[in-house]
Amino acid sequence: MTARRNGGGCRPGCGACCIAPSISSAIPGMPAGKPAGVRCAQLDADNLCRLFGDPRRPAVCERFAFDPDLCGEHRHQALARIAALEVAT
Ligand code: SF4
Ligand code: SF4
Repeated sequence: MTARRNGGGCRPGCGACCIAPSISSAIPGMPAGKPAGVRCAQLDADNLCRLFGDPRRPAVCERFAFDPDLCGEHRHQALARIAALEVAT
């Protein structure tokens, strides 16, 4: 984006979708996956993913695409919306 994402519209340095959601697949440094609201171990200080182009990057991260309804207009909106979605699902 990006932190995680490569889709058009993604805000470089946002990283909300690497913090707010839970991820059930193993991530290097987080073998049991990532709890909701916890920063991914692979998110660097600039909120960019260290695993771009790396086969160890979870498939779910590859699939997640920028969505204006979810990502909102700024990082705090994205964090809140993704967290709300996490609670609802
Ligand atoms: S592996 Fe990369 S894209 Fe996936 S949550 Fe972690 S930092 Fe984000
Ligand atoms: S929450 Fe949206 S804008 Fe932020 S890094 Fe993820 S895809 Fe990009």
